Amino acid sequence: MAINYVLFRRRIFAWYTKHSRTLPWRNTGTTIDPYRVWVSEIMLQQTTTKTVEGYFDRFLKRFPTIAELAAASMDEVSRLWEGLGYYRRCVQMHRAAQEIVTRFGGVFPNRRDDVLSLPGIGRYTAGAILSIAFDQRQPILEANTIRLHARLLALRADPAQNEANTLLWNFAEKILPKKNAGRFNQALMDLGNLVCTCQEPQCIYCPVVSFCETAKQGLQSEIPYQKTKEKKEYRTEVALLVRKKGKILLVRYPEGVRWAGLWDFPRAETDAEQPNHIAADPKLRERLALITGHHLEPETLIETIKHSVTRFRITLLFFTGTDHGKISLTENTKPYELQWVTLSELHHIPLNSTGRKLVQNINQKTLW
Ligand code: SF4
Repeated sequence: MAINYVLFRRRIFAWYTKHSRTLPWRNTGTTIDPYRVWVSEIMLQQTTTKTVEGYFDRFLKRFPTIAELAAASMDEVSRLWEGLGYYRRCVQMHRAAQEIVTRFGGVFPNRRDDVLSLPGIGRYTAGAILSIAFDQRQPILEANTIRLHARLLALRADPAQNEANTLLWNFAEKILPKKNAGRFNQALMDLGNLVCTCQEPQCIYCPVVSFCETAKQGLQSEIPYQKTKEKKEYRTEVALLVRKKGKILLVRYPEGVRWAGLWDFPRAETDAEQPNHIAADPKLRERLALITGHHLEPETLIETIKHSVTRFRITLLFFTGTDHGKISLTENTKPYELQWVTLSELHHIPLNSTGRKLVQNINQKTLW
């Protein structure tokens, strides 16, 4: 069906005037600060608005300007990001802030090519910043709008595939008004989030139901395309509380691995099937040695935590451990960065979420 774009836009704007969500990053008065839009958009990637709300305020309070973010240490930025996940985002945001200072004098650029040249900013984030903060006619496509547009068009194909993805971007561009593109984009995101929901979309409250091919054909439960879920994998990991002269041993994850840039207790997977077989597991010692360059030995089980990372269901066993000193590794093996810290210093160091949980439990159990 050919869409009457003028009527479509009018209905979207009218709905948004009544139903827009109140979100902290939208409270910017008359001028919209691109820095706030940028921070919110990066935080919102793969993360719910509810989770982001508290983080956003804390982050902006500590780093109210791009220059202050650029001048901060990576550890301080990661500490504030702790718990939000996908840490690559904050590493890239920190780098981008430094580039904005050196290349653009600390002012967020408003040329599309410049914005896209910054680390961690892709087509969606650039479109959101340029439309919302600079009122440029730039389309966006994120989880809510992918679902909304796929349903409006009755698109059955996987939106991640090239052809379907191009079709959705073209549609997102076509429906944009000449003015107030940022407001329009935010309205689409809100409509997707509040009305065109994943499960049981509220079509009777939808302002664009008359344009919707999916509603017309009753295909709401089949569109958008759903990937078959990856099979769960179960694994057991061991983390060690190694103490020496009043300090605790930590390792920092390097670039390119899970939790890159964050600190943690020495941790590795074990093949042992029972906790009382852990100390004798040679594979575990080998893995710990490759990570730390030290001969570490698990001793007493302190506690067990169960958690999930993507498709992995992990049982994490937290042991006390002993450091039997450095070992020599082959030339090609580079251990992670290590540091020995006091318990009070641990509160200022960015840890992954289970590492932080273990720290809280060390305090509670007064193991120290
Ligand atoms: S009519 Fe229903 S399925 Fe179609 S866009 Fe609106 S809420 Fe989504």
